[in-house]
Amino acid sequence: MESRRDLLKKLGAASTVGVGATALSTGSAAAKPAVDWEPAHSSNYTSADRGAGDIAGVVIHVAQGSAEGTVSWFQNPDANVSAHYTIRDDGYKYQSLSDINIGWHAGGTQWYTDHTIGIELGGYVGSGFPDAQYQSTAELTSWLCDQYDVPKSRISGVGDCYGEAGIMGHHQVPETDCGYNDHTDPGPNWDWDYFMSLVY
Ligand SMILES: [Zn+2]
Repeated sequence: MESRRDLLKKLGAASTVGVGATALSTGSAAAKPAVDWEPAHSSNYTSADRGAGDIAGVVIHVAQGSAEGTVSWFQNPDANVSAHYTIRDDGYKYQSLSDINIGWHAGGTQWYTDHTIGIELGGYVGSGFPDAQYQSTAELTSWLCDQYDVPKSRISGVGDCYGEAGIMGHHQVPETDCGYNDHTDPGPNWDWDYFMSLVY
């Protein structure tokens, strides 16, 4: 029997050539967008076995740094943080965690950590985001929603403390006291109306 590590490696490798969708398919026939697989260090996430019943949200972040720097930070055993995907400003996609695993990106109440997929946007809250980055993020988000039956709508305001399915910014993830998260990303320069218009 294969070790879990070998299996994950295989899933990751499959992702890079665009057939990862087959391994994890829950109904969508669309091919997974191409990603550059750059695995996070195993000490920066929780190994899990999530599927469509477990993944209910997509959280959009801004990395406050370059995409390359972010991906390499997730590979640093001291980081204690990880997100599944990072999108460079030119639209290039990195994947650091298999979707089945739990990333350490959301903070706040545990449901959001356990049931979401994290996407980091390379760049800064204070800067704008190029169209290629919107297009690429929307393509990936659309695929994830199809794959895991995540509603293709943005949640309104701060999420329900006990869990709220959909697409959201990090600032919408409720803190442990069920109030607003102390994060501000993706911030006012991320055009949500435009982004959501691209999610198909
Ligand atoms: Zn964030």
